[in-house]
Amino acid sequence: MTETIDALAGLVAGGGVVVLSGAGLSTESGIPDYRGPSGAARRHTPMTYQVFTRDAQARRRYWARSHLGWRVIARAAPNDGHRAVARLQRGGLVDGVITQNVDGLHTAAGSPRVVELHGRLDEVVCLGCGNQTSREELDRRLREANPGFDARVSAVNPDGDVDLADDEVAEFRTVDCTFCGAGVLKPDVVFFGETVPAPRVARCFDMVQRARLLLVLGSSLTVMSGRRFVLRAAKLGIPVVIVNQGPTRGDGYAALTLDAPLGRLLPALADRTVGAPAAGDGGVGVAPTGLTAVR
Ligand SMILES: [Zn+2]
Repeated sequence: MTETIDALAGLVAGGGVVVLSGAGLSTESGIPDYRGPSGAARRHTPMTYQVFTRDAQARRRYWARSHLGWRVIARAAPNDGHRAVARLQRGGLVDGVITQNVDGLHTAAGSPRVVELHGRLDEVVCLGCGNQTSREELDRRLREANPGFDARVSAVNPDGDVDLADDEVAEFRTVDCTFCGAGVLKPDVVFFGETVPAPRVARCFDMVQRARLLLVLGSSLTVMSGRRFVLRAAKLGIPVVIVNQGPTRGDGYAALTLDAPLGRLLPALADRTVGAPAAGDGGVGVAPTGLTAVR
C-alpha cells in the first residue's frame, strides 16, 4: 500500500490536478452512499424529474421524506478528506474540483473553484419563475405548515431514508413559491431523468481538458454524468487515477487505482506533497505509517 501511495503522491506532486469527487468522499461525514460497499442498495427508487413535475402526490411524498431527511444533511460537516483536498488546492497542486455531491461540503471545507455538477441540496428553485431561495427558509416554512409532523412519523432511519405510510404522506402539507405565488418548488439539484445545465458541463470539460491529471475520489462512476469526464481525459491521453472503495466503471481507463478510505488516504497524500497542515488548518495529520493497515 505504501508503494501505491508513493506512486499517487508522485503523480499529484506534478500539479495540474483536477478532482472529480463522488458520494464516497462524504460517507465519513455521515452522508450515506447507497452504492458504496457498506451499503445496502437504496430502499426507495430515486425520484425522477418527470414524476416530480407531473405527479402532485409523488411530490408530496418526496417533500415529506426529504423534510425528515434534511436534518442529516444540515448537520453534516466536512471530513479530513474534504479538508485535504482544500489543502492540495492551497498548495497549488489541485486546480479545481468537480463534484457529483450535492452536500456543499467541499466549499464548507474551504475549497475554491468547485463546480457542483448536480447542484446543491441547500438551495431551492421555483419551477414557475426560477426564483432561488435557501433550503433553510423552506425548512422553516415546512415546519410551520406541518407542526409536530417529525414527531409523529414512525420509522425514521438515522440516514434520513425514511419510510412513510400513505396516511402520513397524505397529511403532509407542501408549500409553493412565495415570490410568484404558485410555482412548484424543487431542490436545486439535478434529478434522475434531468440533464445538467449545458454551461456547467462545458465548464467541467474545459477544466478536464486543461488538466495534467484527473483524480477521481469516491465515485463508482456508475452514471454517465460523471463518467464522461473520465472518458474525455482518457481520449486526450490525460492520466486518470481512481481512489474508491470497490471497483468502478472507470477502472479500465485508469493509470492507477487505489482502494482506500479517503479520510485517511487524502491527509497522508497532502502531507507528502504539500507538507503538514498549517496551525488551525483543521486537517490533523494522520501519520503516513497509519496507512499500512489500510487494505
Ligand atoms: Zn416562483
